[in-house]
Amino acid sequence: MSKVNIAISECLLGHNCRYDGKTKYFPKVELLKEKYNLIPICPEVLGGLPTPRVASEIVGDKVLREDGLDNTLYFMTGAKKALEIYKKNNCKAAILKESSPSCGLNLIHDGTFSGKKIKGMGITCRQFIANGIKIYTEDDIDKLLEEDIDE
Ligand code: SF4
Repeated sequence: MSKVNIAISECLLGHNCRYDGKTKYFPKVELLKEKYNLIPICPEVLGGLPTPRVASEIVGDKVLREDGLDNTLYFMTGAKKALEIYKKNNCKAAILKESSPSCGLNLIHDGTFSGKKIKGMGITCRQFIANGIKIYTEDDIDKLLEEDIDE
């Protein structure tokens, strides 16, 4: 039986695409690869931002850099391109990195660049949810290894 395609935040796969030039490698993705085809997406890079880049946080209806510059358009473009990749690959779900201003599902930083997190959703995650996509986070990987995704 062919494997189901799932989109995944690229930093979880070990790619150094985070704003600080580092990764958020999650070793259990190696087990996931045995069960699913993982399609990497990094919305911030897809949106045209460099790596490393100045940190951004969601502030109201904008995404602002720590130095105050408005990065909203990059984040919106990245969300659109990530969605195109998702659809082109006929993915059945997405695993997104929690707490990111692009990928976060339940949490984001509070917009003060102090490290404090609040309840909220990243820009790409919002776009995916609006398109009816089932979202998981890295905290759900054990579950995805044990159960099949609901299609
Ligand atoms: S935008 Fe998403 S995939 Fe890219 S580094 Fe941030 S959390 Fe990872």
